[in-house]
Amino acid sequence: MLNKILYPTDFSDSARAALAYVKKLHEAGATQVVLLHVYDSRMIDLRWEIESEYTDKGMIGAKDAVVKRLLDASYKRLQELETELRDTGFETELIVVEGIPYQEITKTAADKDVSLIIMGSHGEHGVVERIIGSTTERVLRETSVPILVVRPTNNEH
Ligand code: ATP
Ligand code: MN
Repeated sequence: MLNKILYPTDFSDSARAALAYVKKLHEAGATQVVLLHVYDSRMIDLRWEIESEYTDKGMIGAKDAVVKRLLDASYKRLQELETELRDTGFETELIVVEGIPYQEITKTAADKDVSLIIMGSHGEHGVVERIIGSTTERVLRETSVPILVVRPTNNEH
């Protein structure tokens, strides 16, 4: 019933709080975790546009190299979390992709046939007025997989 969990993270405090619940579910019989980080392609394009206003236009070709470096850095951060989950006893799978977070989360949940998604109520952008962030809201609307939404532990939100 709870065999495979999808844990999408943007490395925020809220996502960190959600990881504690992933670990707890090992005791309840969960055995596999898919860790997913989505490098938001809208942010990449925005950053690149801003930077290219200030730098030589000849730099445009370097975009792919920069994106690759950023994806590699995210992969390393995800590997640290993977180690924690392996120590807890889980089998793990890591995915880092470039895309729109809610779309990739919804797609991965279906492709990997997970039984539960565990994610933060908020994320790195921290719009505190909202009950939940837009990524979690969109995933809730679009997936048929049940979701455990975890609030950050300091109750800031
Ligand atoms: P918003 O992005 O709407 O301004 P926010 O950043 O506070 O607000 P969300 O983006 O909805 O909130 O983040 C909620 C949860 O969604 C996070 O705790 C994390 O579990 C997941 N999440 C958000 N962004 C990503 C991402 N890029 N990759 C993987 N998971 C993500
Ligand atoms: Mn966000």
